[in-house]
Parts: sequence; C-alpha cells; structure tokens
Amino acid sequence: MNAARDFVLSVEDLTVSFDGFKAVDGVNLYVDRDELRVIIGPNGAGKTTLLDLICGKTRASAGTIQFKKKELTKMAEYEVVRAGVGRKFQTPSIYENLTVYENLEVSFPRGRGVFGCLTFKRTPDVVERVNSVAETINLKDNLHKEAGALSHGQKQWLEIGMLLMQEPELLMLDEPVAGMSVKEREQTADLLNRICKGRSVIVIEHDMQFVKRIAHRVTVLHQGKVLCEGSVDKVQSDPKVIEVYLGH
Ligand code: ADP
Ligand code: MG
Repeated sequence: MNAARDFVLSVEDLTVSFDGFKAVDGVNLYVDRDELRVIIGPNGAGKTTLLDLICGKTRASAGTIQFKKKELTKMAEYEVVRAGVGRKFQTPSIYENLTVYENLEVSFPRGRGVFGCLTFKRTPDVVERVNSVAETINLKDNLHKEAGALSHGQKQWLEIGMLLMQEPELLMLDEPVAGMSVKEREQTADLLNRICKGRSVIVIEHDMQFVKRIAHRVTVLHQGKVLCEGSVDKVQSDPKVIEVYLGH
C-alpha cells in the first residue's frame, strides 16, 4: 500500500535480535519530507534501538531501511551520515573548550580528500551557514561564548546546530528535552517546528505536553513492535496505548 508513495524513509519488517531477544521486531515505519514524527513507548520498548538501526550503529537481523531509495542496512555509520542522516544521542557531545562559533564551524562537512581534511578556511559559505544555524538554535548572541559555559538546554541546542551544519535530510533526536526547564522545552518545540521544514525529523520523547506541541504523527512502540500510529489525539485515546503506556 505504501510502496507507491515517495517516502523519505521507509522501514520495513525491521528486526534485531540480541541473543534471541527481539528488541525491534518487524517494525514498519514510513516518514515523509517536512514531517516531524514522534516515537513514544515504555522504557525498553526498542525506541533507541530503532534509531541505532537507522543510523548504522546496530546491524539489523532482518528487514530493510530505505532512505531516499538507498538501502541503509549494509552501510557503515559514516556512510549513513554522508547519505544525509543526522543523529543526536541523549548526552550532548560538544567541544566544551571551543566557542559556539567554533563548534559549529568544525561541524561543517569538509571535502573528502587529504586537502579537505587538512586545510580549513573560514570561507563565506561556512560563515554564512554558521550564522544561519546559530540563529535557528537561538544562540546568535552567544557565538563567542565557550560551549562549556552554556546552560544545559543551550548545549542541547548547540548539538542540534552541529547536526544542522551538515544539512541532514533526516534528523533523529533521542529525548532532546530531558533535563530542560519549562521555558527551554517551549523554545525547543519552536526550534523543532522550524527545522522540520525541508527535511524529516524523528524525535523520541516522553513528555506528552511537549509531544503535543511538535508531533505531526506519533508512533507508539511496545515490546519492539508498533502498537499504534496516528495523530496525537488518536494515540492518546487508544485503549491499548493507555494500558501499556499513558495510564502509568
Ligand atoms: P527504549 O529506548 O525504548 O527505552 P531500548 O531500545 O534502549 O529501549 O532497549 C530495548 C530493549 O533492548 C531493552 O530490553 C534493552 O535492554 C535491549 N537492548 C538494547 N540494546 C541492547 C544490546 N546491545 N544488547 C542486548 N540488549 C539490548
Ligand atoms: Mg531509549
């Protein structure tokens, strides 16, 4: 049914088994361009493992992951990045001793040859992208601050910015507002609403207030399988979802 449509990401029958235990078990997932998909589900449902499979960190036992018609399941992690997939992990990996500007600058994708790696100039395209990304992530006034001096929330935004420097067509974020203040959560929701334009975004999140502010569609995972999928209203009123997740 979905085969005829042009999804950016088509995951089919995806399964990974760890010593016989299926952490992800026959998952199908189709994500459009300009779509912000949220994945929810109880702890241990397989949400992080699903992102690990898509970004090439974990090898699938079965199934396919088509991204812009390219098969990702056999690719190395760096090849998946090159294909246009950016992934943010739960703990930020920024360079604390570099400024915001420098953190963004070093994330600009460089040439693949020896010269691309060794020579790095502040060319106009780099400067322009740093400034535009800094604006998107609300850090324009902090460009010359050391990243280590940023608030917890700002560090998370900086890491999102570092991913945006690569202009990924699919961006995946694992619990991006964990530990953030209410105000930072609101600003992160606005940020995500801005950056899903022109790309696809997948967010794993528990905070249902936050999910309501960002989700176009929600996929509920439970025991490695898709339990329910649809609008926030649809999944929130689904008795199965209430039983295994929202009721607690
Ligand atoms: P979630 O992110 O939804 O909380 P995870 O994807 O982290 O869940 O984990 C799903 C299940 O898979 C858990 O039971 C977890 O213990 C197990 N698991 C995840 N990674 C591995 C691994 N590398 N080896 C063995 N078991 C794993
Ligand atoms: Mg997780």
